[in-house]
Amino acid sequence: MNNISFNDLFQKLKGYSEQDVSLIRRAYDYACDMHKGQYRQSGEEYITHPLNVACILADMHADADTICAGLLHDTLEDTIATKEELAKLFNSSIANLVDGVTKISKMNFSSKKEQNAANTRKIITSITNDVRIIIIKLADRLHNMRTLEFKSEYKQKENAIETMEIFVPLAYYIGAYRIKSELEDISFKYLKPDIYKRLSDKKAKVEEENKELLEEIEFKIKRILSNKNIPNEIKIRTKNIYGIYKRINEGHKLSNIHDLLSLKIMVDEIDNCYITLGLVHSLYKPIYAKFKDYICNPKTNMYMSLHTTLMVDNDKLVQTQIRTFDMDKIASFGLPAYWEVYGKDARISMQEDLHKKYQFFDSLIKMNSMFSDNELFVSQVKNEIFTDKVYVYISNGERIELPKGSTIMDLAYKLGRDIGDTIVYAYANDTMVGLDYVLNNNDRIKVVTDEMSLGPKSNLQARTSYAKMMILRNKNDWDK
Ligand code: MN
Repeated sequence: MNNISFNDLFQKLKGYSEQDVSLIRRAYDYACDMHKGQYRQSGEEYITHPLNVACILADMHADADTICAGLLHDTLEDTIATKEELAKLFNSSIANLVDGVTKISKMNFSSKKEQNAANTRKIITSITNDVRIIIIKLADRLHNMRTLEFKSEYKQKENAIETMEIFVPLAYYIGAYRIKSELEDISFKYLKPDIYKRLSDKKAKVEEENKELLEEIEFKIKRILSNKNIPNEIKIRTKNIYGIYKRINEGHKLSNIHDLLSLKIMVDEIDNCYITLGLVHSLYKPIYAKFKDYICNPKTNMYMSLHTTLMVDNDKLVQTQIRTFDMDKIASFGLPAYWEVYGKDARISMQEDLHKKYQFFDSLIKMNSMFSDNELFVSQVKNEIFTDKVYVYISNGERIELPKGSTIMDLAYKLGRDIGDTIVYAYANDTMVGLDYVLNNNDRIKVVTDEMSLGPKSNLQARTSYAKMMILRNKNDWDK
């Protein structure tokens, strides 16, 4: 671990321009200079930390400015460097990113409740200024979690809880599944070491027992795809320990490989995903109810893939995901990879319409404007955004994300204030329902509005604070 050098980062910069690489090299040299003589608790030179953060960012396909800011992220706080100097030596975008990350972490060490809430709010809302700040913060947190063994037990638990509460949901919302899984597993290992150990042993056992079977499936699929000249890569994917733990907690039994392992097939283009699906189904029968097309209808965090569950070898079930190489990059690393795949301009337009593409940002912006009290804001974000979700379809086929327990009223206000204010009833899967109907996953909802309606009279059946507040406001208007 001790011997990471610039070359490790350099190896990850193959897709970057010469200009980008030289900018990153300059940022590295400067950070080295600034952190000279500083050491981490592990005894390593301090520079190993920003260097590791930059490596994570390069893996995520972040842009050059973000990688530079990753290298420089601790210079404002821990060295004599200033924002003005960073702007002059590099550029103003890098200086702003480093400044943003610094502002977030400055108060991390305070244990006062209100200060913690203020800081948590800053972490969460910094996304709305430049989402790259949170991406750097995620990489920073990931490396700190990887090296958590050098901290006190108290600090380990505290960091693990904070990671689960704030950084895991953030990783999910930007669609960075690989980062999310790793953060979950490291946190879980520190929070429940015994269960973690037991589950990883069990996982290793099931992996071993089914190794041959999965290799055979992989071989057969590979052969049929190669015969059709479809460029492909197949991976046997193990689920993360925390995910397995959650399933057991929900009452599932760990009996099938299906619960622990899955097959990931990557091909070159979208058309070939569907051809592959047909070919795979010709080899193994699919379970109808388990098929999902997240390519035509991506998840609200832009995740795309085809999911099918195959019956193999005497009713064993194997979950299978089929996607393009680009989709896989996006599913692993989220937004930064999305920007890379869709070109540089995507970064500018995405920051502008993040709230349209990723529904989470819209909820966040609304909530930020609704609560001035920091503690209330943080508890509401945890309660409504960083919580279990329900997903429903509206008339145009769009998937809408709401906190679990939401009703037709919440959905109506999520779709727009005018819709909430004039809704009279709705259809759920073609059955007429009232405004207090609690949404279930995959419900098809059609809302019916009437301009003459005065809207919901009581907010008791609303789950989200936005709907509650809007209904209350209307009620106050009448009472005047
Ligand atoms: Mn750091």
